[in-house]
Amino acid sequence: MKPTQLVIALTKGRILDEVLPLFEQANIIPAEDISKSRKLIFDTSLPNVKLMVIRGSDVPTYVEFGSADMGVVGKDLLLEHGSEEFYEPLDLKLAECRLMTAEPVNAKEVSGRLKVATKFTNIAKKYFAEQGQQIELIKLNGALELAPSMGLADAIVDIVDTGKTLTANGLEPRELIAHVSSRVIVNKASMKIKNSIIRDVLGKLRAAVENS
Ligand code: AMP
Repeated sequence: MKPTQLVIALTKGRILDEVLPLFEQANIIPAEDISKSRKLIFDTSLPNVKLMVIRGSDVPTYVEFGSADMGVVGKDLLLEHGSEEFYEPLDLKLAECRLMTAEPVNAKEVSGRLKVATKFTNIAKKYFAEQGQQIELIKLNGALELAPSMGLADAIVDIVDTGKTLTANGLEPRELIAHVSSRVIVNKASMKIKNSIIRDVLGKLRAAVENS
């Protein structure tokens, strides 16, 4: 890829619906309607900038290895990925939510190891280790909120926005692990080799964040 060509990996799904309007404000506009296309990579209004649209959990990997120069991804997935191989220069302040522990309403104290179900296993491991609490981790990929009522786990670690999902499943939030929002990450080598175009794009995005 030429030093003047920039690939930005975006997270598909709900974050994309919030991020695309911000990119439009920054004058980085996909050449076609992403939601109506099966393509995964798109030209934009800037001839030297392309957008990739992939799963959030793959964004840090693409940026870490330099297949994408920049990425937009939730802080939850960055914490879970846990790499130092990219910079995190900008908080887009979008898709804000919290990573929390949650337990059944009025749950009794658990004797012995707490069974924790989550898809954020690295985050949960680190968090409970820091609390000095021994846990048994149960990896799930979705519908975590079901795990306590089905007897699979005593607690979960999950994303909480309004808290409605927890309430609907007889759970309540307990401890805050981290505040989450969408972040821009940049591959370290790209930052050196493509410094001028990356600074330009970051400046445009920063101005859009400040004006929104
Ligand atoms: P809520 O019921 O509003 O607390 O939303 C919680 C559910 O929505 C969680 O199970 C998450 O999977 C999902 N969710 C809410 N906000 C976000 C976000 N910013 N990023 C990823 N998932 C989210």
